Amino acid sequence: MRKTRARSFPVLMMTLAFFAGLVYFIVNLTVHSAEWSSIPWNAHLSDKSGLENAGMILDRNGIVLARSEDGKRIYNDDEDIRKACLHVVGDDGVNIATAIQTLYRSELSGYNFIWGLGSPDMVNESKDITLTIDSSVQKAAYQALGDRRGAVVVYNYKTGEVICMVSTPTYDPAEKPDDIETNDQYEGAYINRAVSASYPPGSTFKLVTAAAALENIEGVEKREYDCTGTDMVGGKEIICYEASGHIDFQEALMYSCNSYFARLAFELGKDRMTDQAEKMGFNTAIKFDGIETIKSTYDVSKATDNELAWSGVGQYTVLESPVNMAIRSAAIANGGTPVMPKLIKSGVSGVSTGNDSTAAGQMMSEGTADKLKNMMDYTVLNYYGKSSFSDSLDVCAKTGTAEVGEGQSAHAWVTGFTKDEDCPLAFSVIVENGDSGFRAAVPVAAQVLEAAEDAVSNRIS
Ligand SMILES: [Zn+2]
Repeated sequence: MRKTRARSFPVLMMTLAFFAGLVYFIVNLTVHSAEWSSIPWNAHLSDKSGLENAGMILDRNGIVLARSEDGKRIYNDDEDIRKACLHVVGDDGVNIATAIQTLYRSELSGYNFIWGLGSPDMVNESKDITLTIDSSVQKAAYQALGDRRGAVVVYNYKTGEVICMVSTPTYDPAEKPDDIETNDQYEGAYINRAVSASYPPGSTFKLVTAAAALENIEGVEKREYDCTGTDMVGGKEIICYEASGHIDFQEALMYSCNSYFARLAFELGKDRMTDQAEKMGFNTAIKFDGIETIKSTYDVSKATDNELAWSGVGQYTVLESPVNMAIRSAAIANGGTPVMPKLIKSGVSGVSTGNDSTAAGQMMSEGTADKLKNMMDYTVLNYYGKSSFSDSLDVCAKTGTAEVGEGQSAHAWVTGFTKDEDCPLAFSVIVENGDSGFRAAVPVAAQVLEAAEDAVSNRIS
């Protein structure tokens, strides 16, 4: 008896180990199989990219951005469109973490859990993915940025459809440069700056401070102030770009008076400023169509009084991504609550089409949104000039020129939206080290909006 028990113990252990291993294998297969099948070096699939037989990627008008033929991935015929769409579409490798060809590689390759990659034809479904972007607007944005580094985001704030998302520097996925790792020209080229980079927002952040003030300080719109070009706020100096003279709330935004908004931030205090920033997307990583974006950050927990004041004009340690900025402009355009962006118009079955986006709640009251909208409208009409943006579209906007440290030109920003019902677009543009929001970013926005107007007004049914 004792002998039998002694012998059966190892058998029992081996049996248990076998079942444990089996469970481990099944769990892993279930969880990771799609991923494994699309790993570029998976020999079963291919010896190259895993895209040899992948489905097509199309723009909103059915223009083919990428397809596979004879075991090779072929991109659009137009070199500028290839470069403009690189960060959205991706390349043969998995270099761009947020690109469709990286995130949806297994869906594009037609992976099926039951059949693996060898699905019989009868169960083969379309492996194509149609995006919301317009390749002609992408090209216009790429050309407008030229050889400068930056990003452009334009999306329909009623439907959430991203019309344009471009990042530079870029490269041609059909002919990836050999010196990409060593040539400074390509530094950071694998990053989609629109969603994976954050920058000091500068004066565009005055919209957040203005929203906080409108939500919390009764009658703040009527506050007047004499700007002499400098002021003491929180025990130290705040410096303006120029002396704006006698101004009210909307003129303070129009002239972008630092002292005025620094005083408001100081008066509002850390809690109310943080609360408003967080309502407007800061300190949360937003997600849409599987794309996890970088977190925009507003943290004044350790700020001095003067640093809190500087935070109210988008300096101190405040950082924001271009996509977050476009979303908060969309919220202003949309009565306080944004429609979140989406990039996939339709796709292979099982691919989520925008329903996994982080639900952004109300960012401000409708009354506050309308006031900000009127102020941004006023700023364009009386300061930037309507023709700086568009003769046909009614654009509301705010520029920013964000200091980035000694010896470097400031980052140039502009964000805003169109008031046009049939062409409802929210946007943000950054030109790194562009020196002036008005001189560097506004012309880019103008060129892209012109292309987008054509695309949206004529082609959305
Ligand atoms: Zn001032």
